[in-house]
Amino acid sequence: MGVIYESQWDEFWAPESRVCFYCHKEVRGAGVYWSGANGDIVLHDTCAENLAVHLIGDAKEIWLVSRPYLRRRVLGLVQEHLRISEGAHG
Ligand SMILES: [Zn+2]
Repeated sequence: MGVIYESQWDEFWAPESRVCFYCHKEVRGAGVYWSGANGDIVLHDTCAENLAVHLIGDAKEIWLVSRPYLRRRVLGLVQEHLRISEGAHG
């Protein structure tokens, strides 16, 4: 899967719905189209970019918390961030 162009929406393999998985609005023109075990996903190009950023962030969070030596580092960063934020506001 990948990109579906305007001329392809009527193809037999095209998704039945043009509703964007991310923003729930209709995809007009070209869109991003993926088919998975739980069904099809259609996205505006900009929504695909936004979703990708969030997916990468979520995956990175799992990666970070699954490594004890990085968990301590992340905790230190959060504590430092909170210290700076509290200093800026207090
Ligand atoms: Zn969208």
